[in-house]
Amino acid sequence: MAVPLLDLKAQYATIREEINAAVLRVLESQAFILGAEVEALEQEIAAYSGCRYGVGVSSGTDALLLALMVLGVKAGDEVIVPTYTFFATAGAVARLGATPVFVDVDPQTYNTHAQAIEKAITPRTRAIIPVHLYGQMAGMPAIVALAERHNLIVIEDAAQAIGAEYEGKRAGQYGHMACFSFFPSKNLGGAGDGGMVTTNDPELYDKLRLYRNHGYKPKYYNRVVGGNFRLDAIQAAVLRVKLPYLDAWTQARQRNAAIYRQLLAEVDGLRLPCELPNVRHIYNQFVVACERRDDFQSHLQARSIGTEIYYPLPMHLQDCFAELGYKRGDFPHSEAAAQQTLALPIYPELTQAQLEEVADAVRAFFQLPAPA
Ligand SMILES: *Cc1c(COP(=O)(O)O)cnc(C)c1O
Repeated sequence: MAVPLLDLKAQYATIREEINAAVLRVLESQAFILGAEVEALEQEIAAYSGCRYGVGVSSGTDALLLALMVLGVKAGDEVIVPTYTFFATAGAVARLGATPVFVDVDPQTYNTHAQAIEKAITPRTRAIIPVHLYGQMAGMPAIVALAERHNLIVIEDAAQAIGAEYEGKRAGQYGHMACFSFFPSKNLGGAGDGGMVTTNDPELYDKLRLYRNHGYKPKYYNRVVGGNFRLDAIQAAVLRVKLPYLDAWTQARQRNAAIYRQLLAEVDGLRLPCELPNVRHIYNQFVVACERRDDFQSHLQARSIGTEIYYPLPMHLQDCFAELGYKRGDFPHSEAAAQQTLALPIYPELTQAQLEEVADAVRAFFQLPAPA
């Protein structure tokens, strides 16, 4: 039995009629850009995330870029980001000519933390972008307290963490802004690219809307140099169908994680994801770690089990950031994670038989003798 890493068709099959009707509604309206669907989604995502405002944008990447643009981040500014993350977190900083300043992550949760961030603060630091990796939030109370002491802006990269909680507060409720992604592989995925910036600050909200659409105020009168970061109505309509299911899907992911924990508890040499006691982990990914990770992945592939390496090379070692002067060994926890982690299938529609198939294949690998 093949088990893919993600099976979007399985989810579509459960809501096909509703999705199709929503898409048709937009087609019939021929109103494709922003508009009522997007505004409704903005309110619904803001409410879901415990924030006052939402601004629908073209992707999670553009959410990050827009959040930094409205702060006026520019050449000479530094923005602190974890080196072990998806490229967009760092890319958004560099695209504005500012300098991403990398910090290491915690070896258990793979999230960055206040102690690492504090050491990287300089007089040029403008903002911090903690990433809530794999669906578990970073330790935001300490990060926010640190930011307040140094008068820094906090932008949460919540692309993998919609609905995640840390000590009872949601992704989006800690930072000045939070950036969400609706890329199809996220827990709330559209029929294409999409994203959202949330905030509680009315001034930031106005600026986000201004920069999202070329700095128009009014149309064709450009107050600032913005861009086209608009969200499509079709995406909003699809996402509005899906949002009411999100909590049930999250529960299914949590149930799958619990089943893996049972089935894999005694596997020596395999590290299961660390779930902190004070969080709501939404399991965008279920990421295990081991030595000989690449052999492990090949073994699972031979048994038709889909996996993915998130992420094989930390940002400080990427060619595009070579001029920043980092070297191998600078961030040992991130470098180890990049070599040892592997995501297993965790999507909500997995059956018990599929979960057992994955677990059997995992166990089989660890009983094999080391290669000669
Ligand atoms: C997916 C993701 C993004 C970017 O979102 P897109 O919608 O794909 O542009 C940014 N940061 C993290 C951590 C992500 O996982």
